[in-house]
Amino acid sequence: MKIDEIELRSVLLPYRSPFRTSFGSESQKHATIVTVRSEGVEGYGEGVFDPFPMYREETIPGALHLLRNAFGPDLLANGCDHPSEVAARWAHWRGNPMAKTALELAVWDCYARQQGVPLRALLGGDRTEIPVGASLGMNPVEVTVASVTQHVEQGYKRVKLKIEPGWDVEVLAAVRAVHPDIELTVDANSAYTLNDMDLLNQIDEFGLHYIEQPLHWDDMVDHASLAKQLRTELCLDETLTSPARVKAALDMGACTVVNIKVGRVGGLQAVREIHDLCVARNVPMWCGGMLETGIGRAHNIHLATMPGFVFPGDTASSSRTYARDITEQQLEAIDGIMAVPEGPGIGVTLDRQFLDTVTEAVEVVR
Ligand SMILES: [Mg+2]
Repeated sequence: MKIDEIELRSVLLPYRSPFRTSFGSESQKHATIVTVRSEGVEGYGEGVFDPFPMYREETIPGALHLLRNAFGPDLLANGCDHPSEVAARWAHWRGNPMAKTALELAVWDCYARQQGVPLRALLGGDRTEIPVGASLGMNPVEVTVASVTQHVEQGYKRVKLKIEPGWDVEVLAAVRAVHPDIELTVDANSAYTLNDMDLLNQIDEFGLHYIEQPLHWDDMVDHASLAKQLRTELCLDETLTSPARVKAALDMGACTVVNIKVGRVGGLQAVREIHDLCVARNVPMWCGGMLETGIGRAHNIHLATMPGFVFPGDTASSSRTYARDITEQQLEAIDGIMAVPEGPGIGVTLDRQFLDTVTEAVEVVR
């Protein structure tokens, strides 16, 4: 496939309400929408890098530099026969999985649209709907309990609470008092250390489905040690940045559940490799979220149709995050089930009129 041009669009989209995690509180999304144009067909990807390296190391300025000066020019000069080949071609540029993914996703979408098939079909996903859970930011205890109840009533299949030391045992006790049996998980986003064993042992008592990334954001060794001390299963998120690192984490017992974020692992081809490894080892996977716009969310929904994604993911309704999204199709879960957007590619199109009102900058690489 010949790529004619690549558009890099910086978007600033307000959240419906601030989202508080152990990183801090955020009130708006800095999204980067990447469009590739090939012989009259467009495909879309979304970058999940942030203005500052709060989640992983990549930042918007760094990613735009690489898209503009490395990955973009390579793709424009050489095209590709199949989207599965492009990430490997960029391997000599080390790391930066999120920057690579933003463009790789757009190539996958464009290719699927040219073939006239939904993206999930290229990934081996045969489901047309997926179960989804909800991830709740940190709020006062009574607000959190009410929010859990609301999401359970809306049919969400799993509820995840963001926690940090001192914001954990009390809120879990309050939620479990009202909802003793729901599928409940916590995500610490690396807020604990092995010096917090007293708290971690208490968290271990709440019958959680798994504990997500309790320790350092790049660690495997301490997680492997912790896994031996807890009954609750450990899931890694931030640490898992490539297929090789997923294999290493599983080999050393650092986790028994795998969170997939396509941007963090370096693209859809990397997801396919991790998927096959996890399926072969009977390791459950689920699709995380980065509060994506409808473009990234649609990609997440398609990849979560692959058979190894056995736990509900974070691909909840767009309206939980945004009063208005940038896609024409609204991605809404009904009774905890998200329908896969129909049509070629990721099945969504841009609401260009609204998109222009939330666009901060556009550049085209030719
Ligand atoms: Mg997480």
